[in-house]
This record gives sequence, C-alpha cells and structure tokens, in this order.
Amino acid sequence: MLHVLHVDRSELFRKIMRELVVRYGYSITSVATQAEAFSIVAERPVDLVITALELDDGTAESLIRTLTKDLHKDIPTIIVTSSDSLELREKFFSLGVMDYILKSELDEEKLRRYFEAFSAEDELSRYIRKLRFAVLDDSQLILKIVSHILSMNGIGNVKLFTTAGELFATQELFDVYILDIVLPDMSGEQVVHRVRTYHKDSIIISMSRFSGEKSLTTILMAGADDYIHKPFDAAELMSRVRINARAFQMRKRLEYLAVTDGLTGLFNHRHSFERLEKEIHRSKRYGHPLSVFLMDIDDFKRVNDEYGHRAGDRVLQAMGHKIQSLIRASDIAGRYGGEEFLVILPETVLENAVKAAEKIRAAVSAKHLDGIPKLITTSIGVTQYKVGESAETLVNRADALLYRAKMNGKNRVEFST
Ligand code: GH3
Ligand code: MG
Ligand code: MG
Repeated sequence: MLHVLHVDRSELFRKIMRELVVRYGYSITSVATQAEAFSIVAERPVDLVITALELDDGTAESLIRTLTKDLHKDIPTIIVTSSDSLELREKFFSLGVMDYILKSELDEEKLRRYFEAFSAEDELSRYIRKLRFAVLDDSQLILKIVSHILSMNGIGNVKLFTTAGELFATQELFDVYILDIVLPDMSGEQVVHRVRTYHKDSIIISMSRFSGEKSLTTILMAGADDYIHKPFDAAELMSRVRINARAFQMRKRLEYLAVTDGLTGLFNHRHSFERLEKEIHRSKRYGHPLSVFLMDIDDFKRVNDEYGHRAGDRVLQAMGHKIQSLIRASDIAGRYGGEEFLVILPETVLENAVKAAEKIRAAVSAKHLDGIPKLITTSIGVTQYKVGESAETLVNRADALLYRAKMNGKNRVEFST
C-alpha cells in the first residue's frame, strides 16, 4: 500500500493532508521537521514525500539533498508551497523533484492522481511504461522537466530533441510524441502534421504557452490528439498521457478484434481477403510471384458429431497454431470459413508454396490431438497468382483444387498454376 511522508510546519495543513490521504485509503506519516523525516525514511518504506519549502530545522532543499544522497533513496518528492518563482522551480526540478505545486492551486483531484500513480501498478501504467516516447522542445529546462516526470513514472524509453530537424532526422518511430509547438525551425502545425503523416499510429500531445483558441484548433486539425498548456505540473502531464494511452490501447484492441478470428487467433475472413488484395497489388507492381493455398479439415463434421462441438473448437485452435508456427513471418494466415484456412505466401512461386502446404499437411496428420482419438487430416489446394486476375478468381481456383484433393481421397495436396 502507498505510504506518504508529509513534512510541513503547519499543524493545520498536516491535519488536512492526513485526512485526505486516509480518505483515499492510503497511509501517511506527518512530521514537522527534516530530522523526523530522516528517521521515518530510515525506518520504513516511503513511496511519496510531500514537503513544504521551509521547515523548522532546514529547507526542502536540504531535505531532498540528504534524502537522495545520504540515504541513497529515490523517493518521488512533491513540493507544496505558497512561494513561487521560476528560479525556485528550476532549482527544485534540477534537484529531481517531481512536481512543484502551489498551495493555492492544490486540489484533491490532483493529489489523488499522484496517489494512484504511485500506488499499486495498474494495467495501464504497465502498458504506458512499454511505450516509446519522443519529447521535442527547444528549451532544455522543459526537456529536463518532462523527462524527469516520465522517469519518475517509470517510463524509461524516452528520446529528447531540441529541434524539429533532429526529430525528423531519426529513422526511429515513437508511440508518444510530446511536442512543443513554438519552435525556431518549423511551425508547430507543420511538425504535428509531419509526425501524423509519417507515423499515423501514435499519440501526439502538443504543448505551448499560447492559450488562443485558434492555435489550439489548428494544432488539433493538423493531427494532434491533445494539447497541454505550459507551465504544467507532473499530474497534469501524466493525466494527459494516461487518457491518451488508454484511448490508444483501446483503439489497438478494437483494431485487433476487427481483423482477428476469436477462436484461432488468425485473421478473419474479411481481413484475409483484404490482405490478399493488397498482396496482389504489390505483386503486380513489383512483378514478384505470389501464391496461396486453401486448406480444409477432412471429415470435420464427424469430429463434431463424435466428440462434441467443444472438441471441434479445440481442433480448430490447434490447427490455427500449427499453421502459424509452420509458415514464414511474411506469410499471412486466415480462417477463411468454418474449418477452412487461407494462407497467402508473398514472393513465393507455386513449387515452394506446394512444399509449404505439404509440410503443414504432413505435420497435421502426424500426430493425434490430446483427447481426440480420430486422426485429424486436411486437404489443400495450392495455386499461384496470374497477372491480371482478381483475388476472387485466384481463391476460386484454389477452392477447385481443394475440391479435387477431397475427390482424390483427402489428406492430400493438389496444385496447379
Ligand atoms: P470434408 O472432408 O468434405 O471437408 O467434410 P467435412 O465434414 O469437413 O465438411 P463440411 O463442410 O460438410 O463440414 C464442416 C463442418 O465444420 C460443419 C460445421 O458444423 C463445422 N464447423 C464450422 N465452424 C465450426 C466451428 O467454429 N466450431 C466447430 N466445432 N465446428 C465448426
Ligand atoms: Mg471439411
Ligand atoms: Mg468445409
């Protein structure tokens, strides 16, 4: 459970903070001096330190320096104070504090987000930690602050850029772009547009000091997902990251579900056909060969009848895994119908496609599946794409060859150009 250490001279503020933390179900120790704070940290694990600037026996600065140096601990620290200046903020951020919050701006919601971020890892945080971040800002201070906030949240895959030129010079693609939109070398709109064009599948969060609605609209129109005003604090930035990451993750899941057959994990019928059309297009354009095969389980009705539908489903799943494990990474496998599979083999001539099909046929019939006494076999029709024909014609020919394999006794491969 999250444990907060609160250091503040004011008894009233300690009481307020204690009530707040307890209300959210976390635990807290509140002290008035840095000496007490050191002994607490030495005694027990602390997940988050919230401290005032001025303490009875020192300052937040001496507290943080001792906490990070002497005790070799890396406890996220937040300053909550009523005094503010750019110098102060700069000093504390360079000391490694996570956030600098004014008492007047402190709201419960903000603190709650901190507590959540530092309490037990949720699934979304784990997801976010795996994302690759690019941060672009011409201010070193902002870069430092943002990278610090990210690292305090366990995000390690972060690259920093001071010019748009540098960002576009890298070949690397990122999942999350945090972009300053007031840059010396390119307009914010251009930067956002360019990132969106080259990396459609990413999260773009822009940041700027401007608050004009016009610039906001322009940036969003150019392709940004979100917008954050400078100066921002860690909780604000992380909440934007989280909200967008959650939407991104959901979109990915939906995209996955839309193209995947739930039972076998292979592509579904529609997506298999779309991929075939794409591969035909590429084959035509580059003049490369392309082959396909259609595979159907033999006497599958009997499997269902004799062992039940559930057993039938298990056979289909096993078949999906088998196909996936035996084809090349560049090949594309889909569940084309009930117990029918379409495999697309780009850059492959008929002869090699026949070998691939034969390998799968042999592997399937070589082994009994657990709990299914009947040996499962498959029939396969293999053919190669002919320039000018449609995807439908190609698949129909594979289907006719599959039918021939059934007629010729099943558990066999038939092929023709
Ligand atoms: P053949 O050797 O000629 O291919 O005979 P078959 O029995 O395999 O052919 P048929 O096409 O007549 O039967 C296919 C069966 O596949 C009928 C259907 O109930 C079953 N089937 C289709 N989809 C599923 C599924 O998702 N799960 C299960 N368990 N069975 C399915
Ligand atoms: Mg069948
Ligand atoms: Mg069938």
